[in-house]
Amino acid sequence: MSCEAVYNANDYKSDLKPVWCPGCGDFGVLTSVYRALAESRREPHETVIVSGIGCSSRLPGYVETYGFNSLHGRALPIATGVKLAAPALTVVAVGGDGDGIAIGGNHFLHAARRNVDITYLMMDNEIYGLTKGQAGPTTPAGDKTKSTTYGNPDASVDPCRLAISLGASWVARGFSGDVKGTTALIARAIAHRGFAFLNVVSPCVTWRGDDQHKELRAKVRSVPADHDTASAEAAQRLCGESEHLTVGVLYDVERPTLLGEMMSIRWRAQGDAAPPTRTEMLRTFGAGFPRTSP
Ligand code: SF4
Repeated sequence: MSCEAVYNANDYKSDLKPVWCPGCGDFGVLTSVYRALAESRREPHETVIVSGIGCSSRLPGYVETYGFNSLHGRALPIATGVKLAAPALTVVAVGGDGDGIAIGGNHFLHAARRNVDITYLMMDNEIYGLTKGQAGPTTPAGDKTKSTTYGNPDASVDPCRLAISLGASWVARGFSGDVKGTTALIARAIAHRGFAFLNVVSPCVTWRGDDQHKELRAKVRSVPADHDTASAEAAQRLCGESEHLTVGVLYDVERPTLLGEMMSIRWRAQGDAAPPTRTEMLRTFGAGFPRTSP
């Protein structure tokens, strides 16, 4: 929910200092989150940031909003529950590529197809950083890592292509070295009604090498001005261009959200009647409910 009070980016900084390695791309993403929340005029006490496990999943602790550093791959079901229980809140799920596409891949599928009204910010460093440099779902094929010393035998996943194919209604790509651009994308993701997926390529300098920033920056280009964001095929084509790292909004469509559908079901079931009490709800399970103490 947006607010009357004016906040600046510093108001969203918590007292906790990030423990990321110097030069980690996640610093750029964190700065963008502070600025985007301020630009979007989000009340800190009406904003919730939920994460899984990994280097980037430490982010909720660094932001002065409500936060939940949960379990491996479990940011999205928790964020979904928060949004359904308290629709007025701004809910942002964050985490890394391993967290979101490997162990959390099933939740990614369901949050996207349901069009849950949340933002999902994936910090993509193409490696498992916290566990010391093993290949993850977005590690390029052939790359040598701690777990693939002769080269990664697996084809890598493009998170944006995946999100579009799963049914996300808003998909964008950013680069952590472009704080201004990433800030604008986070603000647009928050404003989107439905499941907004933002993949921010965020170099891991410790396990992917010091040159990552330079190499990625050289490949960055903006989404072409004539790109049709309503076309999944056009968005998939941009994702597939390996010679570029195309940043900006790739895909943007409107379709019913999970929250809207749930409200509609509730209205059909309940109409103007008062919500049932807990006892009345338990009775619907059968004559033995609710059980009384022996
Ligand atoms: Fe960042 Fe990599 Fe260090 Fe993790 S290991 S904090 S991703 S640089």
